[in-house]
Amino acid sequence: MVENKTNIEKENIEEERKVAKISNRAILVLECVICYSSIAIFLTLTIIASYCEMSNALRFVLILVGLVDLLVSCFTAFYLEVKAGCYICAKCGNKHQPSYLKALISPHIGWTRYMKCPKCGKSSWNKKKF
Ligand SMILES: [Zn+2]
Repeated sequence: MVENKTNIEKENIEEERKVAKISNRAILVLECVICYSSIAIFLTLTIIASYCEMSNALRFVLILVGLVDLLVSCFTAFYLEVKAGCYICAKCGNKHQPSYLKALISPHIGWTRYMKCPKCGKSSWNKKKF
């Protein structure tokens, strides 16, 4: 009876891990969609403002709207990236989730960030784990 309950608990934990992994991947795909669509909107508005006949005030408004959309979208997408999954320290293998500001100021290549590990205190390239 107790052994069956333990097996069921283990299966539930494993199922929760699978669901979390799928959710984290979906969030990271959403991050890419948000970033690339906002870049496309910004470029489209900038090209329209550059090549179409209109007043300078309207040009300014179009570029400003595109720029605000780009900034808000990129910072939102970055927030999703930081909160989905975790980072793994290359030195000790510790899994950790950095603060938004710490991740924002750390250099990165793709989803790999150069950060200081909270456990071992060493700086290394931390890979994103879903
Ligand atoms: Zn470490």
